[in-house]
Amino acid sequence: LKSSLPNASPPSEVRLQPADIQAVCQQQGFELCGVLSIAQAQGVARQAGSSLQAWLQAGNQADMHWIDRSVPLRSDPALLMPNTQSLVVVGLNYYPPATETATTPKVARYARGQDYHRVIKHKLRHVLKALQQQNPSLKGRPLVDSAPVMERAMAVAAGLGWQGKHSNLINPSHGSWLFLGVLLLDAVVEDVIEADPVDASPTLTPDFCGRCTRCISACPTQAIDPVKRTVNSQQCLAYWTIENTAPALPPGIADNLNGWMFGCDICQEVCPWNLKHQHPTAEPAFLAQNPVLTQDPLSLLTMDDTTFKQAFAHSAALRTGLLTLQRNIQAILND
Ligand code: SF4
Ligand code: SF4
Repeated sequence: LKSSLPNASPPSEVRLQPADIQAVCQQQGFELCGVLSIAQAQGVARQAGSSLQAWLQAGNQADMHWIDRSVPLRSDPALLMPNTQSLVVVGLNYYPPATETATTPKVARYARGQDYHRVIKHKLRHVLKALQQQNPSLKGRPLVDSAPVMERAMAVAAGLGWQGKHSNLINPSHGSWLFLGVLLLDAVVEDVIEADPVDASPTLTPDFCGRCTRCISACPTQAIDPVKRTVNSQQCLAYWTIENTAPALPPGIADNLNGWMFGCDICQEVCPWNLKHQHPTAEPAFLAQNPVLTQDPLSLLTMDDTTFKQAFAHSAALRTGLLTLQRNIQAILND
C-alpha cells in the first residue's frame, strides 16, 4: 500500500459549497453524502487508527496481514493525496429486491450485482468531473473500501449514521445495506461544521441500537464483540468463506455455515433497522447479474477455472476463486 507521493504542487484556491457537492452526489445516485474538513478527518482517523491497532493486536484480522500494513496510511488521510483539504463521504443503498434472495447455497447481498469497488469508484470519478467543470483546477482522489481509509468512522463523523453492534454503519432511513466511499478533495468546503467525533454533536446521528442484541444472538459463531462493536474475523463466516483459502474449513465454521457459501448476512438480516427500512436499490449494477450466483450456485461444483474467470469477470466473488467457493459449497452439502 503506497500513498500517492506528494510532489510539490500549490494548494488549491478552490472553495466549494456543501450543497453543490450534495447535488452532484445525488445525481450519481448516492443517497447519503457528508463532508469533513481534513482537520476533522485526521482526528477521526487517529482515534479509529488506535482502535484498529487494538483489534489487530488481539489477532482479530486472522491472516489478513495487509490490514496491519495499512495502519499508518489509515491513521492520516492527508497522506493519501497532496494538499487534501476535505473528504466527501458517500453511501449508496445496495439492497437487492426480495425476489433475488432465496438461493441456496447463499451469497451475501453485496456480491450479487457487479463488483462495487468499480461501480462506486466510477460514480465518484463522475462526481469529481462534475465539480471540475465549475472548478478546473480542482484535484481529487476517489477511495473505495480496499483503499486505506477508515470509511465507516468517517461516515459516522460526517453524520451518515451510527456504528451498529454488528460493526456496520446504520442509517436511520436506509438501514445498513450501504456501500461507502470517500472522495478526497484539495479544496476547502465552506461551512463544514467542525464536529467533535468523541462528544455528542449536532452533526452525529445518535446510537439507536439501544438494548437490542439481536445481531449478537443470531451470529452462529459468536463473532461479535458487543462492547467494542467489532467482529472477530477468526470466528466470522464472511472471513472464512471469502478471504480464507485453506483447503478445508475448521469444524466450528464448517458446521455453522447455515447455507452461506460467500459471505454472511445474518447479523444484518435480523437487525430491526433493516427489517423496517430496507428497500430495493435504485442502482441497476447492484441487481443480481450472475445467474450462477442467484439461481444455480451448485453449477460451480462442475465449472472449470476458465469458465469461472469469464463468468465472474465483473463479480466481487472473482477474487475468492473457484476452488474456495467449491470448498464452501461442499462443506454446506456435507453439513
Ligand atoms: S457476518 Fe455472520 S458470522 Fe460474521 S458476525 Fe455477522 S452473523 Fe456473525
Ligand atoms: S441488530 Fe440490534 S444491536 Fe445489532 S446492530 Fe441492529 S439494532 Fe444494533
